[in-house]
Amino acid sequence: MVLNSPWECLFLVGAEWLICAATRYIGRKARRRVTLNANRDVWRFGAVLTAAATRFLSFVTCRIGGCVFGARDPPSYRSLLWRYLLSSNQASTSQVVLAVEHGGTNPKVDVIDGGGASRLPSGPMPLDLPQFERTREGIASPTKLPAATIEALREQVAPLLSEHRPSALGYSFAGPVTADGIVKSAPNIWGPQVRSVPYARMLRDALGMPVAMGNDMWAAANDIMAHGLAAGLPDVRTFCVITVSSGVGSKVVLDGRVHLGVSGVAGEIGHMPILLPTEAIPGHRCGCGAPSCVEAGASGNANAYRARYYAKAFREEHRYTRSRELMEQVAAIGLNPGPHLSRNIMEINALICDAARRGDQFALDVVSSTLRPLARAVACVEAEFNVRNYYFIGGFALALGEGLLLPVLRQHLAEMTGSTYEDLANLGRVYRVEEQTWGLRGVAAAAHSLLSPQ
Ligand SMILES: [Zn+2]
Repeated sequence: MVLNSPWECLFLVGAEWLICAATRYIGRKARRRVTLNANRDVWRFGAVLTAAATRFLSFVTCRIGGCVFGARDPPSYRSLLWRYLLSSNQASTSQVVLAVEHGGTNPKVDVIDGGGASRLPSGPMPLDLPQFERTREGIASPTKLPAATIEALREQVAPLLSEHRPSALGYSFAGPVTADGIVKSAPNIWGPQVRSVPYARMLRDALGMPVAMGNDMWAAANDIMAHGLAAGLPDVRTFCVITVSSGVGSKVVLDGRVHLGVSGVAGEIGHMPILLPTEAIPGHRCGCGAPSCVEAGASGNANAYRARYYAKAFREEHRYTRSRELMEQVAAIGLNPGPHLSRNIMEINALICDAARRGDQFALDVVSSTLRPLARAVACVEAEFNVRNYYFIGGFALALGEGLLLPVLRQHLAEMTGSTYEDLANLGRVYRVEEQTWGLRGVAAAAHSLLSPQ
């Protein structure tokens, strides 16, 4: 159950207060009767009974509150509740911010209010920003690309600025970004020569408004901090958000702050070099070129490559007799570079996830092998930060679903860790939010927090 409005919160508080007040009143009456009629044991019994009832009802309302908010510790629901009320009040603000998602493909912009809703009638608007691959013939020096990007952005958002008058800018960028808004590198967007660009300051000077900036996982972390409680997540102050999609990305949030480190790459498990040789997929490497990154073995793409590799390598295995048809289907789908690659990867993963849910042994083994390095990375994050809450987003995590992803991860964690991490037995949730939504909503939440710092 999820609370949808502050009124439901107020109703919960009111109900608890009324119940407690009523039982206290009855208790006082009963005690007075005991004083007046000292010999009437029945009134003494009544006083004890109402005192017990008060405690019981208070416990029940706390328990209900705990369930409503998914809090593990029922009495803590009050603090969660007030935090939710405060965030709802912020959400009702009429201020809007500009939200930009600048990834390798399809950059877009939106105007978003304090509640996370778009103010543009047809949703996010595509942006046409200069990019290294497309413009290298036209631009003499790639180092001019950041300034050219800002110029193009300013031109394209000018109508939005005059119509909606946003108070701040939230900007997510596909690359490591420091806490000061310095883009350390952006090989896919500005080419390998461009490094350490003070991009947030350049944006602020060009658009004349405060700027909150980070990478895509920073945006996801901000989205969870702002909207995760309403989506039923138990803790939005200290957690790790992990995307399992074409790659693996993550960010750690400690006491309400995204932990970025010196150059913005802290908490990124995708490139932890902890893939074992037995988990590597022949011919498949991480996008960064390293052979033993978690991403090379635990991403959605890795799952498809692994499924195809296993389907061919273990074709004659006796234990997969019942999986022959599935293995032939998977082996027949090509994974050569080309325009159909991402569609084919999704097709293989859909086949594997469906079959795993039906209990197919081959599909379960593929998924288990993919999630093992991810579980090891989670154990490393837990050893470093002890955040306890892990929220999974991204296409492959959603395709697996909580029913498949979490039990397999927990099983691996139980095998590879001792009693030190017993909390990991209920480690995570799959954060079900439209993949297109959280990026822009997250940067908007960060921009709004600039306007009303807590
Ligand atoms: Zn890597």
